[in-house]
Amino acid sequence: MHADIRICRAHDRPVYTLSDVCPKCDEPTANSAPAPFDPDDPYGEYRRKLKRRERE
Ligand SMILES: [Zn+2]
Repeated sequence: MHADIRICRAHDRPVYTLSDVCPKCDEPTANSAPAPFDPDDPYGEYRRKLKRRERE
């Protein structure tokens, strides 16, 4: 079964956790599924911007 990775955005960098609360600030975390980026690919957004520029 796929474990839900949850995310706390109350930091400079999003904190990922499997817990319902952030281990750093104890705030409730949100499901990371709708996140517009891949946490395993921190440069994905940068690369997509480059691609977009190439098309123009
Ligand atoms: Zn937090």
